[in-house]
Amino acid sequence: MPHHPTWIEINLDQLRKNIHLIQNYIAPAKYCLPIKSNAYGHGILEIAAVAETEKVDYLAVASLSEGVMLRNHGIKLPILVLGGFLEEQIEDFIRYSLDFSISSEFKTNLVEEKLAALNQQAFVHLKIETGMQRVGARPETALKIYQRLLKSKHIVLKGVYSHLACADHEDQSVSLEQMRVFKSFLDKIHVDDLLIHLSNSSGILQTPNQFENMVRPGLLTFGLSTQPLPECLAGVESFFSLKSRVSYFKVVDKDKGVSYGHTYKTKAQTRIATIPIGYGDGYRRALSNKGSVLIRGKKYPICGTICMDQLMVDIGEGEAYVGDEVVLIGKQHEQSISINEIADHCATIPYEILCGFNERVPRFYSSESKLVAG
Ligand SMILES: *Cc1c(COP(=O)(O)O)cnc(C)c1O
Repeated sequence: MPHHPTWIEINLDQLRKNIHLIQNYIAPAKYCLPIKSNAYGHGILEIAAVAETEKVDYLAVASLSEGVMLRNHGIKLPILVLGGFLEEQIEDFIRYSLDFSISSEFKTNLVEEKLAALNQQAFVHLKIETGMQRVGARPETALKIYQRLLKSKHIVLKGVYSHLACADHEDQSVSLEQMRVFKSFLDKIHVDDLLIHLSNSSGILQTPNQFENMVRPGLLTFGLSTQPLPECLAGVESFFSLKSRVSYFKVVDKDKGVSYGHTYKTKAQTRIATIPIGYGDGYRRALSNKGSVLIRGKKYPICGTICMDQLMVDIGEGEAYVGDEVVLIGKQHEQSISINEIADHCATIPYEILCGFNERVPRFYSSESKLVAG
């Protein structure tokens, strides 16, 4: 039994199913799985291990530290570090066999000098600015870098990529313009042996294109989407559950304020259950008086302000006993609470909700196939 009464359950069988469905959907394009920020809160090492056995082609992370961690735990898949980098990191990209992103002439020079001094090779992807204005070389500059890389003895160009800024918008005009800029760059180079990648999850759902041979669906792999899924992806589902247990229970009289600031007042005598989870775990305070939980297959409203470590639920005439399992994200009997629903209450996106759960909440991994195999 975990020492912390609140935990996350990750169903790795559903992850495998999602990966297989997405592999079929994107074929023949390769699958680069972004697992930055602890694999969107799912646990970077466990997700990477499944990606490897299920033949995902590439992993992408945001930072050198994430890449180093994967290598230190024996992950062998190619790994692309997406973000910009600092000069002092170059050596470790090489030491840990991490592909990194080149997005300026200045950085290209730094890498070239470093590699010459070390007499080593590095593998890079050229990042093109097409409309995000985050990291990426403008097409004119990128062409100069490209020509430079072709001649380099030390830098091996593996791919060319860009990133969509508004892929989840109904109006696809920004994406289409980005695709036009990207494609016109590709028309000027030899793409034959290169990985060409642009689309994130929304991109592959909204703006399929013929010119990329790799895609980077993150959110979709985790079973979430900001738009409806096509029929062939209907089995793609979230496999992240957040659970806890009732730690306390009391009957409270009419007209009593509950929790900090008394933002909730009981309208009649009622029963209040206390759940040991709060914003200190990453369960957002914005869910105060908005969120809900499942106990014994029934949905109950969170009442009053969410504390750092606890929250209260008004169960009215309902039934709950200390020790009962509480579902805050996921399914219980016929009921469910989705991450999208929680994100809406918090006026944010599902990504931010997932990334918010911290180290205090232990993650448990279930896998039928593994149990059977064992
Ligand atoms: C995070 C990220 C992705 C994945 O985006 P999703 O919306 O989760 O599919 C793809 N590409 C880049 C460059 C990213 O930073």
